[in-house]
Amino acid sequence: MANYVFLGPPGAGKGTMSEMLAERDGHVHVSTGDILRAEMKADTDLGQQARSYIDAGHLVPDEVVAAIVTKALDTDEVRTRGFILDGYPRTVPQAKRLDATLDAVKLQLDRVVLFEVGQELLIKRLTGRRICRECGAVYHVCFTPPKQADVCDKCGGSLYQRSDDSPETVRERLRVYHEQTEPLIAYYESRGLLLRVPGHQRKHAGFAVLCEHLHL
Ligand code: ADP
Ligand code: ADP
Ligand code: ZN
Repeated sequence: MANYVFLGPPGAGKGTMSEMLAERDGHVHVSTGDILRAEMKADTDLGQQARSYIDAGHLVPDEVVAAIVTKALDTDEVRTRGFILDGYPRTVPQAKRLDATLDAVKLQLDRVVLFEVGQELLIKRLTGRRICRECGAVYHVCFTPPKQADVCDKCGGSLYQRSDDSPETVRERLRVYHEQTEPLIAYYESRGLLLRVPGHQRKHAGFAVLCEHLHL
């Protein structure tokens, strides 16, 4: 099974496309954002450490996220089913660390998928995003609304808006992406791993485009 990194600005659809591909092909979906939010919900030390960074729209320190990722990747499940890393790496030092981790656990990165979406659509997607409080399922008030307003189709849980999806924090996250994450495009391009995929289509059409680009 192939191993992927999904790269792209906040709102590019990394989480949504990860879920769809993992459901279809069985990959383990590793989202650093989801793991950090679960730690915050459980009010662990890690969650408390991460909260101030996340709420400000800034990146959590590399050592903190690197430890999470190493733990998530070093499992038999990942070795048999493959992984989709969603939201990691986000800095060049994180990418270098990931190379070392993958070497150490004897896994290979096959492709880095870059989802390309214009700024205006990113802002629309992020400010309309809603999350299930119970199961973490992701909706959008216009693009992928639940059947009943503010209620999760999958588990009946109530939906909420992430505090970092407010317009001000979204602007800061996009700035941070530009400054700290965009250099990864050249990093992976120079290694011949980068695949650019247009990400502006609606959910199901977008998934078809992804599969076509990956020859799946
Ligand atoms: P997005 O929807 O912007 O892609 P995520 O759910 O992936 O958001 O991440 C939410 C927040 O969690 C980020 O803004 C950042 O504070 C933190 N985070 C997630 N992944 C990383 C990472 N690889 N490095 C540092 N911080 C991270
Ligand atoms: P990311 O993980 O890159 O931050 P998400 O997958 O969470 O992005 O998507 C951001 C928001 O946009 C969510 O509300 C999601 O439902 C919606 N969304 C994602 N992909 C699409 C798409 N292809 N078309 C329309 N809406 C989408
Ligand atoms: Zn739910």
